[in-house]
Amino acid sequence: MADLRVTTTRGVDTVLKEAVVTAFKQSLRGPLIAPSDDSYDEARRVWNANIDRRPSLVACPAGVADVMHAVNFAHEHHLLVAVRGGAHSFAGTGVCHGGLVIDMSLMKGIRVDPVRHMVRAEGGVKWGAFDRETQAFGLATTGGTDPDTGIAGLTLGGGFGWLGYKYGLACDNLLSVDLVTADGQMRIVSDTEYPDLFWGLRGGGGNFGVVTSFEYRLHPVGPVLAGLVLYPFAQAKEALQFYRDFSSATHEELTTYAGLLTTPDEAKVVAIGVCYVGPLAEGERLIAPVRRFGLPLEDQIRPMAYTALQSLMDTAYPPRNQYYQKDHFLREISDEAIDIVVEHFARVSSPLSIPFFQQSGGAMRRGNTAYAHRAALYNLVLTAQWLDPGESERHVRWTRELWQALRPYATGGVYVNHIGREDEDGADQIRAAYGTNYQRLAELKTQYDPTNLFRHNQNIKPTG
Ligand SMILES: Cc1cc2nc3c(=O)[nH]c(=O)nc-3n(C[C@H](O)[C@H](O)[C@H](O)COP(=O)(O)OP(=O)(O)OC[C@H]3O[C@@H](n4cnc5c(N)ncnc54)[C@H](O)[C@@H]3O)c2cc1C
Repeated sequence: MADLRVTTTRGVDTVLKEAVVTAFKQSLRGPLIAPSDDSYDEARRVWNANIDRRPSLVACPAGVADVMHAVNFAHEHHLLVAVRGGAHSFAGTGVCHGGLVIDMSLMKGIRVDPVRHMVRAEGGVKWGAFDRETQAFGLATTGGTDPDTGIAGLTLGGGFGWLGYKYGLACDNLLSVDLVTADGQMRIVSDTEYPDLFWGLRGGGGNFGVVTSFEYRLHPVGPVLAGLVLYPFAQAKEALQFYRDFSSATHEELTTYAGLLTTPDEAKVVAIGVCYVGPLAEGERLIAPVRRFGLPLEDQIRPMAYTALQSLMDTAYPPRNQYYQKDHFLREISDEAIDIVVEHFARVSSPLSIPFFQQSGGAMRRGNTAYAHRAALYNLVLTAQWLDPGESERHVRWTRELWQALRPYATGGVYVNHIGREDEDGADQIRAAYGTNYQRLAELKTQYDPTNLFRHNQNIKPTG
């Protein structure tokens, strides 16, 4: 390994001597990957192929000690740092240009305590593995709807999922985390230890350090009554109005989504998705109106294992396609907002793009954490997806135009995990993500990360 050009937190380049890098490499149990290594191109990749960054070093910790070494090394040399869990950030914040990536993907341990209904999972775990392990004991907690998404980024931003209406956000089910802070210390953070920091971690994103493991509360979850019902696009307005009325009168055990998509045979359709967690007969009764509204093109709702539901969307968002995303929180779905979404979707720029309403509310309203959008009843997620990088401008424009048109009908808040790209979704979107909690989060940031080492994220600036 030769001398290495690296980017610092100030955004300027400096050179690390070969001996310094070698000593760092020898201090780690896990690999340290540099641009000269064969594995470098794979190591720098993230899920969204629209993100193409070249870090100077990628450290893959094998345990907590490696994370502490990596954080100390970055601190000592003032390196720009990105922390990567499942690599699913739309904005690609898990990889930086020129700095050090701390890639948690080797830390995948999961231990379920079936008696106390708890699980401890390391910072590189993805939801597919998490659900598989917890469901082996008939347990689960709210988690992301794509098995390839990391538990880390999703939980730290809040965490929507099919169990949300009943059990709250993923972060509402956190019991504690092991966190390596900017001073290189590992702290066990919970309601009783560093409770202020615990509040901030649950919604404050990756601003406060590297989480080496998460401990969650689990719930008994058996087969669920779940799936999609598809209606023709010609009925889109009526179907979304029906969805609005149905979901606003919904039951504690039912979480619902609705979206517009293009099928593989190029038909535009409306999809209404449900997940009922409770006695199946009662679920059948509750979801009957979804099946009865109009004449469905397809009714895929059926009892299924929770793990089957969790992989239902798997093929809709494959890794290494091009993506761009924006969102709005809504307190209600107005007729005007429906008209705008439907009319805009009629001229969607890519058949892979999907706008959908994700239900908030229920238990998601109750937590007391840094997640700032408890009063919202829906998150309207606008995901553009395409294959040819040369077409990016067109698809990004389609998304931005829809987002702009919907602004008057939204709360003004956005979900920290859905912010599109740093270069254009700058400071005002970050304020919109943390809302009225921003100042309290900035004070916590000043206390635990005064030099803003963890800045390659939806960044909260230290005060002063
Ligand atoms: C296909 C797809 C489906 C999704 N579905 C959902 C969904 O159902 N519900 C939902 O709420 N969101 C969903 N999301 C959004 C998701 O929450 C974010 O993309 C989230 O950032 C993914 O976490 P990650 O660990 O995979 O991301 P990464 O790209 O690895 O990390 C993103 C950021 O999280 C922080 N971070 C990651 N790991 C750590 C760690 N160990 N310690 C400290 N900070 C860390 C860092 O700041 C990092 O920049 C989805 C995203 C995709 C692409």
